[in-house]
Amino acid sequence: SKSQSGAAIHFYAHDMSAGTRDWIELEADLRNGLDEDRFEVHYQPQYELATGKLAAFEALLRFRRHDGLLLSPGDFIAVAEESGLIEAIGDWVLQEVTLQIADWSRQGLAPVPVAVNVSARQCLGRSLARRVEQALRQSHIAPSLLRLELTESTAMGDVDHVAALLADIRALGVHLSVDDFGTGYSSLSYLKRFPIDELKVDRSFVRDLVSDPDDAAIVRATVALAHGLGMRVVAEGVETVEQLNLLASQQCDLVQGYLFSKPLPAETVVAEGLLMPAE
Ligand code: C2E
Ligand code: CA
Ligand code: CA
Ligand code: CA
Repeated sequence: SKSQSGAAIHFYAHDMSAGTRDWIELEADLRNGLDEDRFEVHYQPQYELATGKLAAFEALLRFRRHDGLLLSPGDFIAVAEESGLIEAIGDWVLQEVTLQIADWSRQGLAPVPVAVNVSARQCLGRSLARRVEQALRQSHIAPSLLRLELTESTAMGDVDHVAALLADIRALGVHLSVDDFGTGYSSLSYLKRFPIDELKVDRSFVRDLVSDPDDAAIVRATVALAHGLGMRVVAEGVETVEQLNLLASQQCDLVQGYLFSKPLPAETVVAEGLLMPAE
C-alpha cells in the first residue's frame, strides 16, 4: 500500500549515511552545473628551465557549487568518475580549452600549448579520439597546441585498446604526457607501446627532493629514462628555489608549481601579461 512504501522510503533516508547523501547531492549538482555553466578551467604555466620562457599551460578544472563555493577536483572528480559524468565534463573541458586557445589567438597573443587531464574512464571506449577531433575542428586551432595528460592507471586496462586509441589521438597531431609518473602500479612496458611525448614527475617526488636522496635518485632516473626514449620531462609542484636548482642540475626540461604561479583564470592569465603578443 501507499503508506507502506512511504515508510520504506523513510527508513532508507534515515539509514543513509551523511557521506552517501552528500555524494548523491553533489552528483545532482554536477549534472545541473554542466547545464548552468558552473565549471571553470584555471591555467597553470609551465616554464622551460633552460631559458625561463613560458612553454605551456596545464588546464585544471574547478566547479562552482550551488552555494557559490569553488571546488577543486579533489572534492568532486571521484563523484564525476563514479557516476559516469566525467565523460560529459571531459568533453566540456576539451571544448572550453580549445575555444580558449582560439580566443587568445584572436586577441593577437602568441599561441602556447595547453595540456588537458584525461581520466582512465574517458579512455574506455573509442570515442575520445572523435571528441578530440571534433574539438579541434570546431576551434580551428593547430592540433599541436593541445596536449593530453594521462595517468599510468589508463595503461592498466586493455593495453591493446589504449595503444590503438592513443595512436589515433597522436595521429591527429595532439601530444601525450604521462601524469604522476612513477606513482602507479603499471610496468614500464607501456612506454614502448604508447606514443608518449612527455613524462611528468609527480609532486610527491619533488616535495622532498632537496632533503631526501631517494627522491633525488628517482628524479634523476626519470630524466635519464625520458631522454633515453626521446621524451621531455616536466617537474610539477615546484615550490622552492632549492628544488628548482636541483631540477636544473638534473637536466629537467620544464617546471611547474607555486614558485612560479598558481593555476589562474583565463582572464588573469591575460591581465597578468603571461601571454606575449604574436609577432
Ligand atoms: P594533477 O594533474 O597531478 O595536477 C596537479 C595538481 O597540483 C593540481 O591540483 C595543481 O593545482 C596542484 N599544484 C600545482 N602546483 C603546485 C605546487 O607547487 N604545490 C602544490 N601543493 N600543489 C600544486 P588540482 O588543480 O586540485 O587538481 C587535482 C587533480 O585533479 C589533478 O592532479 C588531476 O589529476 C585532476 N584534474 C584536474 N583537472 C582535471 C580535468 O579537467 N579532468 C580530469 N579528469 N581530471 C582533472
Ligand atoms: Ca595533470
Ligand atoms: Ca600529479
Ligand atoms: Ca593526478
